[in-house]
Amino acid sequence: MSCPCSQFLPIELDRESVRKRINKSRRLKRELELLAKDDSGEHKLFKCPKCGKFWQASRAWSWGNEEYLFETPSIDPAEWTALPFEQPDELIVFSAVMRDYYERNSFETTNTPCRQESCSNFAIRYSVLCEEHHIAKLQDGRGLVSRPVGRRLPFYK
Ligand SMILES: [Zn+2]
Ligand SMILES: [Zn+2]
Repeated sequence: MSCPCSQFLPIELDRESVRKRINKSRRLKRELELLAKDDSGEHKLFKCPKCGKFWQASRAWSWGNEEYLFETPSIDPAEWTALPFEQPDELIVFSAVMRDYYERNSFETTNTPCRQESCSNFAIRYSVLCEEHHIAKLQDGRGLVSRPVGRRLPFYK
């Protein structure tokens, strides 16, 4: 009794890896048992009946909205339904946006302390906040893309 699960490593956070996984997911899915669907209907939770690994199926919006599978930690299906795992495809888009942002903005530090309470960094030019808090504030106000919603996957920082 063997299953194909061990051939699949965590998806590298680049576009090509997602594309490859989309191509292989249909075959892998045939080996898996469906445990749950989330309310939106986009995400599904699977378990391999042979090795017991858990998998989430999601759609990669920037890759033609195609479905792909990625391994997740074991989880209670009811808990998972309330909040599925974050998706590698969204992490890729998110980090591309952030990289682009950092490239276009050079954060010059001033001598003024950051206004955020109990922060010991110095504010960046044209802001009253340090780089970290400036970015957090932009994400808060939706001026920047925020890290995707979902349970953190241990493979990605
Ligand atoms: Zn398996
Ligand atoms: Zn600060």
